[in-house]
Amino acid sequence: MTKILIVEDEESILMPLEDNLRLEGYEVSCARDGLEGLSMAAERPFDLIVLDIMLPKMDGFEVCKRLRQDRVMTPILMLTAKSQEIDKVLGLELGADDYVTKPFSSRELLARIKSILRRAKEPHRGIDFFRFDAIELDFVKYEAKKKGQPIPLTALEFALLHYLVQNKGRVVHRNEVLDSVWGKDVYVDARTVDKHISLLRRKFEDDPQDPKYFLSVRGIGYKFTG
Ligand code: CA
Repeated sequence: MTKILIVEDEESILMPLEDNLRLEGYEVSCARDGLEGLSMAAERPFDLIVLDIMLPKMDGFEVCKRLRQDRVMTPILMLTAKSQEIDKVLGLELGADDYVTKPFSSRELLARIKSILRRAKEPHRGIDFFRFDAIELDFVKYEAKKKGQPIPLTALEFALLHYLVQNKGRVVHRNEVLDSVWGKDVYVDARTVDKHISLLRRKFEDDPQDPKYFLSVRGIGYKFTG
């Protein structure tokens, strides 16, 4: 059974979410503050963590950061309330896999959850290993290295990289990327793709401001030239 941990202190969000996920057949555990969430996530294996940001005792940013530092790589879906929080989720490179902005519909959240779980479970098809310049990508072991140094990547970043590598040399539209990497049934703003491309640039490009591999094609999307 797929196990989901929800870390959320607001009962009005937690309870319907818990019910909906149970109805969908997931095994659901709940934590009502950051510390409890952190200890539960570290003690037991979950397939996914739904993590609120504003939490008593320890906020969601810190919980996410600590889990990744402790090498707990369970996919994390953050619940954000403000646009500043979204920028922080993406900008801090906390290792969250996706985020949903409050208020959200249970349908939207379920679609996101399914998309993350599908990505995490499906082994990548096609290219297993790819090397360009001093960068090595292993899509089987989920390992990335630049000049021999490991680069931490989330499952979503691996999925995005894999898609770009498979479409090397071709201009890919933002919507194509969204459909293939995030999933067709998921509503994500095109800005999300831009944000994730800029994170990949920061991790792989020598000069992220003047990218060599992850090129923007104005008005259309991106081209990977590795
Ligand atoms: Ca909260």
